[in-house]
Amino acid sequence: MPRFISRYANHVLVMKPARKVIDEVEGITIVPGRRIQFVDGVYETDRSEEVKFIRNHRDFGVLIFEEKPAPGEEPQEPVVYTCQHCGKEFESSQALLRHVRKEHADLIGGQTSG
Ligand SMILES: [Zn+2]
Repeated sequence: MPRFISRYANHVLVMKPARKVIDEVEGITIVPGRRIQFVDGVYETDRSEEVKFIRNHRDFGVLIFEEKPAPGEEPQEPVVYTCQHCGKEFESSQALLRHVRKEHADLIGGQTSG
């Protein structure tokens, strides 16, 4: 997940200011804006629009810096091997192969009968 560091512990970036909407029925309602609030100078986000906003912000590179994760620190996506015959999932290709040979031997031409 992208991680941003600010020189200000409680830095707030306004993505979209709050605005007042006048509604004939409800009267004046306040539509909350979108803000990015750093906590202890750190903000982590997975939202691509927030990442884009921060990277394009005028304070980026001046007050705000992106922390690059050290190689190998990023969590690895778990790989799942799915059986194309029945949709069962396995953690390794070996387990999937074993399953196919055992359960779907007739489909892979291991047996000839009739
Ligand atoms: Zn299967």
